[in-house]
Amino acid sequence: MRKSIYSLVLLLLVLTTAAFTQVKTVADYINEVRILSDRADLKAADLYVDRNHESILREWITITEINAPSGQEQQRAKYIESLLRKYHLDDIHYDSVGNLIGVRKGTGGGPVIVFDAHLDTVFQPGLEIKASVRDGKIYAPGIGDDTRNIEALLATIRALNEARIKTKGDLVFVFTVQEETTMNGAKAYVNENKGKIDQYIALDGGYEGFTYAGIGINWYRHHFIGPGGHTRSQTPPYSATLPLARAIDRIYQLKVPARPSSNLNIGMLGGSEVVNAKASDAWFTVDLRSTSNEVIGDLEKQIQTILDEEAARAGMKVKTDIISASPAAVIPGHRESYLVRMSEAVHRVMGFEPPITNAGSNNSSAALREGISSISTGAGPCDGAHSLAENCEIEPLYKGIKKVMLLEVALAGVQ
Ligand SMILES: [Zn+2]
Repeated sequence: MRKSIYSLVLLLLVLTTAAFTQVKTVADYINEVRILSDRADLKAADLYVDRNHESILREWITITEINAPSGQEQQRAKYIESLLRKYHLDDIHYDSVGNLIGVRKGTGGGPVIVFDAHLDTVFQPGLEIKASVRDGKIYAPGIGDDTRNIEALLATIRALNEARIKTKGDLVFVFTVQEETTMNGAKAYVNENKGKIDQYIALDGGYEGFTYAGIGINWYRHHFIGPGGHTRSQTPPYSATLPLARAIDRIYQLKVPARPSSNLNIGMLGGSEVVNAKASDAWFTVDLRSTSNEVIGDLEKQIQTILDEEAARAGMKVKTDIISASPAAVIPGHRESYLVRMSEAVHRVMGFEPPITNAGSNNSSAALREGISSISTGAGPCDGAHSLAENCEIEPLYKGIKKVMLLEVALAGVQ
């Protein structure tokens, strides 16, 4: 008798363990998120957003009009810091590179979820920014990239506070510096905090969908080095422009796969400084991108072979400068991870048919390269990023804010 009870307990234990370790499908997560979004407190938080369109729009404009060129984000950060203090976040501080951080502490026992929006813009210091509203859109440089997402985070903090929602896990809000230039803000943050972060959500661009991996981008300048000389000097040797032309023609015949998503562009070239000289140094650039590091490596090798063959054919040498190199940010199996499935569920419950892609190019890549599960998404549809004509639709931002908030609560968990 005792023995059979013992076996029964053991069997139950095995069964429950199996149930817990079974991977949940997106449909399972959709059910969970639906129940979550039907809670009275979540509805109250949504209602806060509905009732505060005016103040959200005003704050969005105020932050946008404080220009924050990369490396000069302090003034904008100070303003946001004053808001975080008003919202009683914990542990408000700047880190070693100038990222502004504030924590909305959980009740305990939950994961640590980072939400990042970048402070910096691409516009020159001293640019006078004045937002204008017409036809349901708001126009101002930087209004979308990335101020819409800064405002979305601030609005969710206010709404969660107003509805007295306590998450289990900590929500860490990181307003990063230098995304547009080097990603040094996010790189420093994840480097200093890896091991303490469970999931990393970079809000940058995007609205209906999200990315779960980062595209690799390598830039090279290849040179053919020859003897040069006057137009009338003996040939061969030719001008170094000859192997350059042959090489470019051959490189453009290489097969660049569409899957995995890859691109190759030769955008700049140069040779002699004058008409009547053979080039002793003819150069061209290559912009090589792929979501697969294997594809990048393979194309690099094929390009190198072409360069070597064409240099040998003309009796010249090759020299390659790497202008910049950032590998694809990929975690094997990440498409099927908890974060990606839960994020898909949140988007679907919000009524989106989310495009889910692996070609992100933002702070999310910095987290993925450190092995931290990460996605990037955004809170509203905008146009003309990095131009003076940048603009966003106003109305969708309020839905975007609710989406970000649902993502915060779903990932951090509630009692
Ligand atoms: Zn951006």
